[in-house]
Amino acid sequence: MIPKIGILAAINNEVTVSMLGAYGSVIEKSGGLPLVLPYVEDEKIIDKFIDTCDGFLFTGGADIEPSLYGENKKTTCGETQPYRDKLEITVLKKAYKKDKPILAICRGEQLVNVALGGTLYQDIKTEYATDILHIQKEERYSPSHEILIENNSPLYTLVKKNFMVGNSFHHQAIKDLGGELEIMARSTDGMIEAVWSSKKRYLRGYQWHPERLFDIDSDNRKIFENFIAESSKTDK
Ligand code: MN
Repeated sequence: MIPKIGILAAINNEVTVSMLGAYGSVIEKSGGLPLVLPYVEDEKIIDKFIDTCDGFLFTGGADIEPSLYGENKKTTCGETQPYRDKLEITVLKKAYKKDKPILAICRGEQLVNVALGGTLYQDIKTEYATDILHIQKEERYSPSHEILIENNSPLYTLVKKNFMVGNSFHHQAIKDLGGELEIMARSTDGMIEAVWSSKKRYLRGYQWHPERLFDIDSDNRKIFENFIAESSKTDK
C-alpha cells in the first residue's frame, strides 16, 4: 500500500496555499503519496481528511500566533497566518486523538507543542543565551549545528547513535513542553531540537529541516523512510 500523507502547508491571508517542493519530494522518494490539504472550515470535512490520510506532515513556515499559547505578541515575533494556525490545530488534535502517524518539522514541531499546551520562545536572539546560529549562514542543504540525541528515544533507536547533523533556520523554538511530549534531542546549547510522545503510536517533531538533508545524509533520510513505513501500517 502507498500511504497517503496529508501535508499541512503555508496558508496566507488570502487563503492561498503554498508549499516548498522538498516536502513533496521526500514523501515521494520515501514511497508515500503527498497530498497538500487546503483550508476548509467544516469540521466534518476535516474529519474526512483525517479518515482519508494514513499520516500527516506538518511543515515549516510563519510564526504561530502567541495568543494561542497565552502570550501577547512581541515586536520580535514575525508574521503569523491565522487560517493556517486554525486548520493545523484542528487537524493535529483530531489526528492525535485518532492516533494517526504525525511528522512535524520546524514550525510544525512548534505547532504540535502549542496545540498540546506548550509555549514558545517568540525570538531566540532576545530570549535565549546561545553561541549557536539557529538561523545558519550556510545554504539550506548544508548541515550546521550538531543534534544530541537522548538515549531511550525513538531517534536513538532509528540512527543508533547519540548525535547526528542538522541544519537550522528558526528564530523561535519550544520553551515549555506541551502535554504528553518528551524531549528526543537538543542542540549543544540545550535548546529542544526534537520531541516525541510515548503515549502515541507515532508522533515525532524536529526543529531542523531533514527534508533538505535527505539526499546527502542517511540519518536524516531515515526520518522520512521511518515515517512512511509507519504510515503504511495505518489500518483505516
Ligand atoms: Mn537549531
